[in-house]
Amino acid sequence: MTDLVIKGTQYLIPGELNIVSPELASIVSPELARMAGHAINCSRTGTKCYDCAQYAELLNRVKHREASADHLNVISRNKHGISRKSISDSALKVLYRLSKSGHRACLVGGGVRDLLLDIQPKDFDVATDATPEQVRELFKNSRIIGRRFRLVHIRFGRDIIEVATFRGYDEDSAKNETDDHGRILRDNTFGEIEEDAIRRDFTANALYYDIHDYTVLDYVGGMQDIEDRQLRLIGDPAIRYPEDPVRMLRAVRFAAKLNFGIEESAAQGIFEFGHLLAVVPPARMFDEVIKLFHSGSAVRVFELLREYGLLKYLVPALDECLQDDPTESMLDFIDQALVNTDTRVNTGQPVSPGFIFAVLLWPVVHKQANSIQSDRQKMIGALMQVGETVMKRQVRHISIPRRFSQMARDIWSSQPRFHRTQGKQPLRLLENPVFRAAYDFMCIQSMVGLMPHKLCHWWTDFQVENADVERPERTRKPRPRRRRRNAS
Ligand code: ATP
Ligand code: MG
Repeated sequence: MTDLVIKGTQYLIPGELNIVSPELASIVSPELARMAGHAINCSRTGTKCYDCAQYAELLNRVKHREASADHLNVISRNKHGISRKSISDSALKVLYRLSKSGHRACLVGGGVRDLLLDIQPKDFDVATDATPEQVRELFKNSRIIGRRFRLVHIRFGRDIIEVATFRGYDEDSAKNETDDHGRILRDNTFGEIEEDAIRRDFTANALYYDIHDYTVLDYVGGMQDIEDRQLRLIGDPAIRYPEDPVRMLRAVRFAAKLNFGIEESAAQGIFEFGHLLAVVPPARMFDEVIKLFHSGSAVRVFELLREYGLLKYLVPALDECLQDDPTESMLDFIDQALVNTDTRVNTGQPVSPGFIFAVLLWPVVHKQANSIQSDRQKMIGALMQVGETVMKRQVRHISIPRRFSQMARDIWSSQPRFHRTQGKQPLRLLENPVFRAAYDFMCIQSMVGLMPHKLCHWWTDFQVENADVERPERTRKPRPRRRRRNAS
């Protein structure tokens, strides 16, 4: 029996005796190979340190390498439906310039996936063997971004093309750059295209459109999964989710947006590792949650978040509140609000994170405010007080920028004001910077019976009659958001 220090538990369990499988042993190291079939004590005080997550990653990698070399599926230009006409001029410009400078350049990720599905891609991502510095040199209009994951953003007017250098795997840096949960903190080791493919999240997201000969390169069986309309995580969920728990939210987002199923082990893994979302920095959670609810498929996203037990890690207070909502009227409210959001997104109307959080936390705020105050005249104060407490708890999980949390609180506290349709009060409410969102919110409430139906009509007419009333800008213009790249 040998003492090894093992961190993480995929194949080996710390503090217990483990039998080393010949398969694992032969791949990991000659030293471990000699122990195949033997019990090793995975204590925390051995002489040699191995990281289990790293073992497993290696195992994965080797398995996929074999698959890559033997099963690389090259789909020629006449066998796939991607036409250059559907690729943006900016993306083509980047691809061609890289290629002409002697680099390998491919479209990758959502762009390829969506084109194969006949959906107009949201954006185009490029992968190349050029380093960020080389890319930067080729494009004046570019800048290197990210620390954890260095990328180049090339700007063409409003359009940004994100260029990533093929990622590889390096044992030494992998050891140092993950946290105790196996979460990748930094990933800047460059590698070959087939290594890059297996570092991506889902097989459907790991297809490359090679500008050199217009073929699609499939190292991981993504074409078949697209055909079967399923999301399959690349590698072992017990490694890939802890590495970056946001992948679970991405699974939900893509399943909802593409109307795909989630392959069984990837789905099971969500139940098992959902709790790791707690270690994701709240700022990143904000970005991801907004992507979920502004995807144009928020209704389905919400259903899936509940189905996979993830809602409790995003908005715990709501999850608790819905557990004891026998009438389901609040669920109807959220559904209706998300139908409204989806319609706005899909018809190009503006949407705000403030509104989404106002919706998601309303069941909680409504319930608590009603439990401390039954007098409608005093409801505004109760909503303000409860709103503040509820928001304080929420921002521990998702850091909601102040302008949005304030907007949500203003929407809540203005709800009782809609009952006041006499005298000067309606005009004052109409002038409120948050009026439009608060009015939409009130009408949604009225649709599900939480507000009198006639109020929505009254306020609709009132706005028409007072169409010339000006509302001051409620906040300064938000700075344009940078696209934040995830770990992979
Ligand atoms: P969309 O842009 O439509 O939201 P996408 O698949 O293009 O979807 P992006 O966030 O733009 O998503 O990322 C581009 C590609 O980078 C993905 O398709 C995937 O291959 C890879 N990727 C992004 N995030 C991760 C992650 N957390 N883990 C592994 N790979 C990732
Ligand atoms: Mg993309």
